[in-house]
Amino acid sequence: MSAYDFDLFVIGGGSGGVRAARMAAQRGARVGLAETLGTDGLGGTCVNVGCIPKKLYSYAAHYNEAFGESTGFGWEVDSLPRFNWATLKANRANEISRLNGVYGNLLRGSGVTVFDAFARLTGPHGVLLATLNADGSPGHQAFTAKSILIATGGTPHIPHFTGREHAITSNEIFDLEPYPQRLLVVGGGYIASEFASIFNGLGSKVTQLYRGEQILRGFDDEIRHFVAAEMVKHGVDLRLNADVVDIRKTDDGLRVECEGGAVVMADAVLYATGRVPNVKDLGLAAVGVAQGGKDEVIVNAHYQTNVPSIFAVGDVTNRLQLTPVALGEAMVVVDHLFGPAAGKPPREMSYECIPTAIFTHPSVGTVGLSEREARERYGAVTVFRSEFKALKHTLSGSSERTLMKLIVETATDRVVGLHMVGAEAGEIVQGFAVAMKAGATKAMFDSTVGIHPTAAEEFVTMRG
Ligand code: NDP
Repeated sequence: MSAYDFDLFVIGGGSGGVRAARMAAQRGARVGLAETLGTDGLGGTCVNVGCIPKKLYSYAAHYNEAFGESTGFGWEVDSLPRFNWATLKANRANEISRLNGVYGNLLRGSGVTVFDAFARLTGPHGVLLATLNADGSPGHQAFTAKSILIATGGTPHIPHFTGREHAITSNEIFDLEPYPQRLLVVGGGYIASEFASIFNGLGSKVTQLYRGEQILRGFDDEIRHFVAAEMVKHGVDLRLNADVVDIRKTDDGLRVECEGGAVVMADAVLYATGRVPNVKDLGLAAVGVAQGGKDEVIVNAHYQTNVPSIFAVGDVTNRLQLTPVALGEAMVVVDHLFGPAAGKPPREMSYECIPTAIFTHPSVGTVGLSEREARERYGAVTVFRSEFKALKHTLSGSSERTLMKLIVETATDRVVGLHMVGAEAGEIVQGFAVAMKAGATKAMFDSTVGIHPTAAEEFVTMRG
């Protein structure tokens, strides 16, 4: 019998923590997991205030377009559809509660002991849980574990400026009350661009401010310009090279003064200016866990910190902040600590060719290198592109256009970048990511028969 209470204690019940706890327990490990369930249910950012509710709201926004476009296909809409924000919020909340329950059942069904408590490290093998006594007074429980996994995720960050208390983040936007008829979004990353599109689609007057030359820094330049132009066509008032000076509350809503003197009036101001690791009060410094400049937990290739019994995965390590990445990292930790699943080799996590989508309207899907990165890495590259109006929009009346782009390393003919702006970009790019992981060449793309009529077939019919 081990001298420890648990073989693995996981702090944080988000994507990475739940996956690690469940898989470790399935390998026979004695696993505990702490999450402050009073704040959010199990599932972390992705389930509660991220990917899942965001995608549901994106679907809601798409209906608005679809009603308008249906007339071109013969539908006669007698009265204008009305949007009920309360219905969407309630249905979303029900679905998220259901998912919280599914996560709880998966954990408990695997034999994980789940604690509704804030956990703090007390040593290389010690955790202290802040719990409530039977009479409701604050209490605590101390446990020991052979290994500890920090999977506490991240939290939105709002920079300092006058009136910052009037800004909200992606944590609050889902339940905002009342519905913001005028929404100002600050930032040019995933979250800002997605919510600008969503609330524009739902019917708000949306202004998006970004401090740089073009939104979505780091993505392929042509894709960035193309999606920005499409968002503007859809109605987003995108202001580049713009930043907020201060926010003041007035009788007519929030008065936002921008650099250069421009003023935007808004009912809500969403700050989506990045996320920071959730490390507050975890006791990292006291235990000597090394952290980086953004307070992130520093880990090696096995997600082990400088304290050998303590590991960390997901957003708290401030690498790629994506749910599937946290899941992959969690699997590597479990295989490392408890051995791989029967008959399987130990999992490895590769950060090459990670596909991703931005659920703007239209959406962006991308895998591999941008044109600029490919030129820097390989020198000679051949770029193939196709820009067109999707078949649906020949009747819909929409002027939305689609862009697809392939970047090929000229010397080897290998496809090293694949990008798209258009409907269902994420669904399309996922499959092509497999081909790229397998090292597909442009000749292989060319020899693949297309599915007609689809947008995706463009990727296998592009000629120089
Ligand atoms: P990002 O890091 O993607 O974007 C932050 C944005 O805010 C950038 O445009 C940045 O500008 C800007 N910014 C940063 N600091 C300031 C400041 N002080 N003043 C003004 N602007 C500022 O963060 P997000 O919050 O959008 O998202 C966090 C992460 O979550 C993403 O990186 C992504 O990994 C993940 N995510 C993934 C999604 C998906 O897969 N679909 C959806 C949502 C989130 P600059 O570019 O100039 O630095």
